[in-house]
Amino acid sequence: MAERMAEMMKDGRVAPAPAPALAADAPHTASLPASPDVQAQATRPAVKAPQKRKPQPRQRHIPQRTCIACKQERPKRELIRVVRTPDGHVVLDPTGKQSGRGAYLCAKRSCWEPALRKGRLEHEFGVTLTPEDRAALDAYVDSLPAEAPTPAARPKRAPKAKAE
Ligand SMILES: [Zn+2]
Repeated sequence: MAERMAEMMKDGRVAPAPAPALAADAPHTASLPASPDVQAQATRPAVKAPQKRKPQPRQRHIPQRTCIACKQERPKRELIRVVRTPDGHVVLDPTGKQSGRGAYLCAKRSCWEPALRKGRLEHEFGVTLTPEDRAALDAYVDSLPAEAPTPAARPKRAPKAKAE
C-alpha cells in the first residue's frame, strides 16, 4: 500500500496534502475586508501613534577614540592602538584587541614624536619604556611617512569645499 502511494506521488498524481491542522489554526478575521464600523472609525481625526523610535538613516555607531597627542577624536579604526601589556611592556597593537590598558594615537609623526620623545605615552601608562619597547615604537614612527609641516594656526575643522 505504501509502495503504491509512493509510486503515485512520483507520477505526480497525488500531491502531498497540506497539513490540515495548520490551516484550521489560521485566523479567520485576517483576510476579511474592513467592516463599515471600522471604516467609520477611520474617519475620526487620527491620533498620532507615539513614536518610540525616530526614523533614522541606517548608520552604524562608529566608536571614537581620542589621540593622546593631539587630543582629536577620531574613529577608532583610524587610530593606532598602543597597549600596556599586563607585564608592563608598551607595544603596538595592530589588531586593536590585545588585552591591557590601551591608548590611541593618530598614524602621524606629529602625534607619535611628542608622544614618545616627550614622555606622553609613558605618562599615559604610568610606566617607563624599556629600551626595547622604545626602539620598537621608534621604528614604527620611522616607518610613518614624513609630513608637511602644518600651519600653526589652523581651524579645527577644515572648511569643506562646497558650493552653496
Ligand atoms: Zn593625533
